[in-house]
Amino acid sequence: MERKEFDVVVIGAGPGGYVAAIKASQMGKKVALVEKEYMGGTCLNVGCIPTKTLIANALMLHRIQHASDFGIEVGSVSFDYSKMKARKDGVVDKMKKSLEGLIRSHGVTIFKGKAEFASPTEIKITGESQEILHFQKAIIATGSEPLDIAAFPCDHTKIFNSSSILELTKLPQKIAIIGGGYIGCEFASLFAALGVKVSLIEALPSILALQGPTIADVMTKAFTKKGMEISTGASVQKIDTEGNGVVVYLKDKDPISADIALISIGRKIISNGVGLEKAGVLTDAKGAIVVNETMETNVPGIYAIGDVTGKFLLAHVASHQGIVAASNACGQEAHMHYEAVPSVIFTHPEVATVGMNSEQAQAAGLTVSIGKFPFQALGKAVATMETEGFAQVITEKKSGKILGAQVVGEGAASLIAEMALAIHNELTIECISDTIHAHPTLPEAWMEAALMSTDTPIHFPPKVRKAAQ
Ligand SMILES: Cc1cc2nc3c(=O)[nH]c(=O)nc-3n(C[C@H](O)[C@H](O)[C@H](O)COP(=O)(O)OP(=O)(O)OC[C@H]3O[C@@H](n4cnc5c(N)ncnc54)[C@H](O)[C@@H]3O)c2cc1C
Repeated sequence: MERKEFDVVVIGAGPGGYVAAIKASQMGKKVALVEKEYMGGTCLNVGCIPTKTLIANALMLHRIQHASDFGIEVGSVSFDYSKMKARKDGVVDKMKKSLEGLIRSHGVTIFKGKAEFASPTEIKITGESQEILHFQKAIIATGSEPLDIAAFPCDHTKIFNSSSILELTKLPQKIAIIGGGYIGCEFASLFAALGVKVSLIEALPSILALQGPTIADVMTKAFTKKGMEISTGASVQKIDTEGNGVVVYLKDKDPISADIALISIGRKIISNGVGLEKAGVLTDAKGAIVVNETMETNVPGIYAIGDVTGKFLLAHVASHQGIVAASNACGQEAHMHYEAVPSVIFTHPEVATVGMNSEQAQAAGLTVSIGKFPFQALGKAVATMETEGFAQVITEKKSGKILGAQVVGEGAASLIAEMALAIHNELTIECISDTIHAHPTLPEAWMEAALMSTDTPIHFPPKVRKAAQ
């Protein structure tokens, strides 16, 4: 095996690893990036991009199906799911090829193979490439994979995980989705929009429990309205695959039959098989690599980023951690902050949150003001017939500092950026109400929510109606 010298070696080419590699190269270092399976990681291959491509198909169908509301007659509408799947594959392939070119254009050397620490300063690569890389600094970005449960393992024929379900070319009539977190809810929304009967099964008392009761409530109602069956507090005991479909057996509840089942109950961190013990890198009880706010592990010069750190399992967090780790590895001090991490759920309606919800703020002992503006009162939403949802801002009452924001409805994914910027820069609610927002646009909802939180609404009746003078 050949032995090569690099300033920085990055393991894993997901949105954490490839961003870190590009950043380190921009900072003048000789950088190697090692990937064992696919460029772009989970996000590009079996996560963000393929799911959002399929969701875009469903959204297009929804718009066409509702065209007559806009005076457009399109006749009967049909679709071919295998073509939707093929479009998804095309998008992923195209992006993967251009990503590899992009990484190389930044002068990063790519090795295709499995990386494993051989010592605190060496990484051994096996597979397509066979090398020993000697490094000054290393960044571990090995990500996560779907969590398989021994009691009902995925056979990828009737029981799928979030990766294998993307390979379906024909839709089932009914699907049982086990896990009502954001991934389960996105698939539930996608399949329901394509006419599949959906049973959503969640062990906790509500779906989207992490997003707080306001979002959980709104989305339970929205999903139920779309005809989904939602079983909460439902613990799956076993899944029977005998016969034509599947039968999901629940503790103390009636079993649920479907054609196929999707397991989306969480992710398993990939920290095994990386040789962490040979480098002396420590993990916690869940296998997450322990890092400080500079993304450095317990071993000086070895950093970890992304899902493998178990912080927020989100692509943009992985990328940001990648920038922080690469900066520190290249001698420029940087720190991670998590107060303003936007999180989007690409359901219909869309959901986006950033910072604290009101329950979290109150639990932290803060006295808050809540400004909530319904899309029904927003000109743009009425014009586009997308009046479902609201924008809500949580503010610390005394200082006016914005603590968090939640938005449900059309454009939520883009709308949340304004609040992420506001929270990251510690802005007050007046900064939002004083900013001129273009009319008629959806971001006006933030300006109106800001006015609501100071009890000075313009496009909403006051809490106490005034008599004319
Ligand atoms: C269905 C689904 C939808 C999602 N949607 C979104 C979304 O809309 N928005 C969002 O922000 N996040 C989303 N995510 C989460 C997002 O995909 C992850 O948070 C993100 O990919 C994590 O990036 P990462 O770089 O840490 O790891 P990964 O993307 O998992 O990449 C890790 C890479 O390391 C490689 N690797 C592992 N071990 C080795 C080794 N020993 N040697 C060499 N290479 C190795 C792997 O092959 C992989 O390519 C979604 C996830 C799923 C499953």
